[in-house]
Amino acid sequence: MRLVFRILKIVGLLIGVLVLALAALLFVTFSGGAPIRDGQRVDGVEVVKDGFVSAFIVDIDDHDVALVDAGNDGQAKPILSALARRGLGPDAVKAILLTHGDRDHTTGVLAFPQAIVMGLEADIPLAEGRELRGFFKFFGSAHPNGIKVARPLHDGESFTLGNLVVRVFAVPGHTKGSGAFLMRGVLFLGDSADATKDGKLAAGRWLFTENPAQNRASLRQLAQQIEPRGGEVKAIACAHSGMLTGGLGPLSEFAAHDR
Ligand SMILES: [Zn+2]
Repeated sequence: MRLVFRILKIVGLLIGVLVLALAALLFVTFSGGAPIRDGQRVDGVEVVKDGFVSAFIVDIDDHDVALVDAGNDGQAKPILSALARRGLGPDAVKAILLTHGDRDHTTGVLAFPQAIVMGLEADIPLAEGRELRGFFKFFGSAHPNGIKVARPLHDGESFTLGNLVVRVFAVPGHTKGSGAFLMRGVLFLGDSADATKDGKLAAGRWLFTENPAQNRASLRQLAQQIEPRGGEVKAIACAHSGMLTGGLGPLSEFAAHDR
């Protein structure tokens, strides 16, 4: 019996150490970024804070909006409250543009059945739950989650939703189908980059990034691609940190110093 207790004690201790190590790793990974400011607005774009992640409401016109990502809440409560403050319901959301297929960005999608869901082609199986990636594979198996990405998007395309012009860029690395969008002067980067507290742009958090070198190369290439439209960019929006309002500067600076 004594031996059993001793083994249980050691196992308990080991589990405790593992949990602490994981907590420390998560803390290091998610600290250091600029804080997300719920309700922050930049010309027709509103930040919605959903715990540790953000989604964005982008105006199409007075009564229709698009979302960039749909947050981590199963009922999309933070987004629905933000819409309700404008007197809008879930049906006002005409489109949801997914920066990538990770669950913390897609879980709220099903709360908006009228919206057409869009995302880069390579991440569609991930967004629909038919595929798992990276170390998430160790924590379960793939199950279709009811999300249907009806409109696959491709690098370099642009299209309109009412008066809203959407430009699409592929930025593989965080996931293979990560995308960036330029709308209303805001460049949405999802998890491909992060805003630091001192107003700089950093590459996506390595712990969750499938291919960090490719992620950095994608950001450098995006800076080049977007430079001709540099004047249009008023702000850069990353999903897990606050919006940077210094135009394209932080991305250009990242690209100039990253090798
Ligand atoms: Zn994320």
